[in-house]
Amino acid sequence: MQFRKLKKRILLLGVIAALCLPGNCLLAAGYRTANFIVEAPHPQLAQKIGDAAEQYRHDLAIEWLGEPLPRWSQPCPITAEVAPTLGAGGATSFVFDRGEVFNWTMTIQGSEERILDSVLPHEVTHTIFASHFRQPLPRWADEGACTTVEHPVERARQHRLLIEFLRTGRGISFPDMFAMKEYPADVLPLYSQGYSLARYLIERGGRQRYIDFVGNGLASSNWPRSLSQHYGIHDISKLQNIWLEWVKRGCPAPPASVAAAIPQIQNIAQTTRGQSPDVTNINGPTRNRISATAARQSIYVQRAKRTQRKAE
Ligand SMILES: [Zn+2]
Repeated sequence: MQFRKLKKRILLLGVIAALCLPGNCLLAAGYRTANFIVEAPHPQLAQKIGDAAEQYRHDLAIEWLGEPLPRWSQPCPITAEVAPTLGAGGATSFVFDRGEVFNWTMTIQGSEERILDSVLPHEVTHTIFASHFRQPLPRWADEGACTTVEHPVERARQHRLLIEFLRTGRGISFPDMFAMKEYPADVLPLYSQGYSLARYLIERGGRQRYIDFVGNGLASSNWPRSLSQHYGIHDISKLQNIWLEWVKRGCPAPPASVAAAIPQIQNIAQTTRGQSPDVTNINGPTRNRISATAARQSIYVQRAKRTQRKAE
């Protein structure tokens, strides 16, 4: 039916194309839950991923929106490539048309541990935002917020990258970043800077205020006004200065009076997986795990290297 017209209206949110490495695409087993259909290398893993996806969908919707999402009319297919040495990453795409969202597909890859504690909550958060907003978010706000639910080790990696980007002139000015509806060619700074800003805002107002801020900004296309209403900061350049100063001071936690006024933010990855503490609290066994993680490339890093090679 009027395919061309429909196509025009459709905004496809392809997050980042996942890499499918030959030899690792062992997709053998399926598992179905209320909202997901998982394909994974073996049945136990498919079940683990499907159950975790449902749990994240429930818990993260409460964190962000204050209530669980209704069941989707069509389940979201998840294709998982799982191998200990595979870089962690994922891609979720969906279609918006006249305020509806459908045609979900999710591809995830990485070690079992990283899929369950970082990639899956990140990708599921994209689906929660798509279901809630029914339109594309500014990329920084989307990717930044999705990264805040990853495991502390992954978040610490983003912070290290951010410092490197800021030192080497790859930071993005906030007015440019707020105007970006697509991924820039130099995509990594968008992730690390988006994460850092989302973290700054969420630490000061909680996740639900962040959602209100994004919702008002989308509805009015007036981001300075939404920023002022929700965070009391009157323009985007001023936000950049305040944020930069905070980063220079080592990203201190907000004053106790501010922290006390916002709802308790759960550490999703830690809660669900019962895993290691943040990198600020490194001890013996954790240190080993962190260095193993640092050696793995994320899909985003792989993509950036490919982009760089192309440019050379
Ligand atoms: Zn993402």
